[in-house]
Amino acid sequence: MTAPATVPPKPHSSLYNTFARAPLEFERGEGAWVYTPAGEAYLDFSAGIAVNSLGHANPVLVAALTEQAGKIWHTSNLFRIPGQERLAERLTAASFADRVFFANSGAEANECAIKTARRYHFVNGHPERFHIITIEGAFHGRTLATLAAGGQEKYLEGFGPKADGFVQVPFGDIDAVKAAVTPETAAIMVEPIQGEGGVRSFPAGFFKELRALCDANGLLLVMDEVQTGVGRTGKFFAYEWTGVTPDILTLAKGIGGGFPLGACLATEEAAKGMTPGTHGTTFGGNPLAMAVGNAVLDVVLADGFLDHVRETGLYLKQRLAALVDQHGDVLDGVRGEGLLVGLHAVQPVPEVVAALRAQHLLVAGAGENVVRLLPPLTIGRTEVDAAIEKIEAACHALAPAAERQQIQA
Ligand SMILES: *Cc1c(COP(=O)(O)O)cnc(C)c1O
Repeated sequence: MTAPATVPPKPHSSLYNTFARAPLEFERGEGAWVYTPAGEAYLDFSAGIAVNSLGHANPVLVAALTEQAGKIWHTSNLFRIPGQERLAERLTAASFADRVFFANSGAEANECAIKTARRYHFVNGHPERFHIITIEGAFHGRTLATLAAGGQEKYLEGFGPKADGFVQVPFGDIDAVKAAVTPETAAIMVEPIQGEGGVRSFPAGFFKELRALCDANGLLLVMDEVQTGVGRTGKFFAYEWTGVTPDILTLAKGIGGGFPLGACLATEEAAKGMTPGTHGTTFGGNPLAMAVGNAVLDVVLADGFLDHVRETGLYLKQRLAALVDQHGDVLDGVRGEGLLVGLHAVQPVPEVVAALRAQHLLVAGAGENVVRLLPPLTIGRTEVDAAIEKIEAACHALAPAAERQQIQA
């Protein structure tokens, strides 16, 4: 074999080129603050995309993880794992659910939910009922099935045929959901508030109608609470705001506080098809993850914690609303629940995110030209005030650009 005439240039990095990363790195964190190797402080209102729910280096979580690390890390699901049994008991006691399967991520938790819903109809003698209705703007993960569930063309392109059995309907349109139900429908899968889709809440009454539709047609209602769960919206589960309960629910992001952990919760009835051998995982629910998950619950389920999240979220939204009034040329709306907050931007989101980063405030983008604020649930007014100061400074920095745009128009 002859060597190629020209050696291709080496890439700058040996990593897959899948992320458009900011040119920033952090070496340590404490609470809502993270620090670069040079010691520069940034206020973290992205919290690893709603993952660091209790802030960085939370002493309760550090103690739980290090204590477990000195005992046993991994045994596999060939054996009983007491931490799993305890965490599952606590999650079911706090919810509609009777059964829990632990995974390592949101997409995996959703895969379990999809399999559970399909298997339920299979054991009921209806293998043809495997279709799942999802909502436009949804995000359910990046595996082949969850991509099909999310239905976003830009994420599906180039990866072969879209996984079969997912039907998508327009956002918030109950008549469209009704029209999409067929004898092949197994379930409806929905985020209580769309996170990646732009912190979008559904119209009042939407979930009650969904529940009624499911009951009338023998469908399972699946709620993806990977982003909204474990206190993010000021309730332990966001479905508690809707007045109905799902049959299956998924968690990830916040439940591990930064340790990879996902969970699929189901009623006894919905989970009845998931018998030995039907599903599995090597890493899911390992003792390290369980130690951290249980410690997260110790904090989030403590008296007054969720009240604090709701109060802080309200204060943040009030202060943001005042900013929006003053800087309508940059931002024109606030939405969300608890500490899942969306700021609708007039200017392109990447520019707003960059302007905030220049003020040392970390946030996340989302669909529909929305900037997402997902701070640790442990913040108080001090951190909110600091963030508002930075957002205001960013608005001033962006204002000349907005004026230029107006002059050009
Ligand atoms: C982040 C997210 C997922 C995917 O979670 P991963 O851990 O990245 O697989 C699924 N659903 C929702 C609602 C999410 O926000």
